[in-house]
Amino acid sequence: MSDCLFCKIVAGEIPARITYEDELLLAFHDIAPKADTHLLVIPKQHIENLNDLSADDAELMSHLMLKLPVIARQQQLNGFRTIANTGKDSGQEVFHMHFHILGGEQLPGF
Ligand code: AMP
Ligand code: ZN
Repeated sequence: MSDCLFCKIVAGEIPARITYEDELLLAFHDIAPKADTHLLVIPKQHIENLNDLSADDAELMSHLMLKLPVIARQQQLNGFRTIANTGKDSGQEVFHMHFHILGGEQLPGF
């Protein structure tokens, strides 16, 4: 999607502090961290959010979920919180699906 911020990061048109990349995924530091370590994990493919998924995405989503702890461990996170805001009412601001990984400190109760 040409006007999507995260598609531009995938395309290398906007810089990001990338920590992990493979053929399907990208992980990078959030520009406004809400914890000591705050990463975003995104599919390279443009998918708006969880509501946009179909059965065709099963392999991608299983890959993504299995990589979350790998990506967290690369940042020496023992425990971490994962958040995926879905839709405007949830507070989603960037409509390219992303999983927040928060950690590196004792997080407040949720
Ligand atoms: P959400 O509210 O779940 O849509 O989260 C969007 C996240 O993207 C926020 O935590 C922002 O701080 C983050 N963000 C916005 N622009 C950038 C950017 N250029 N690079 C990295 N993170 C960004
Ligand atoms: Zn996108």
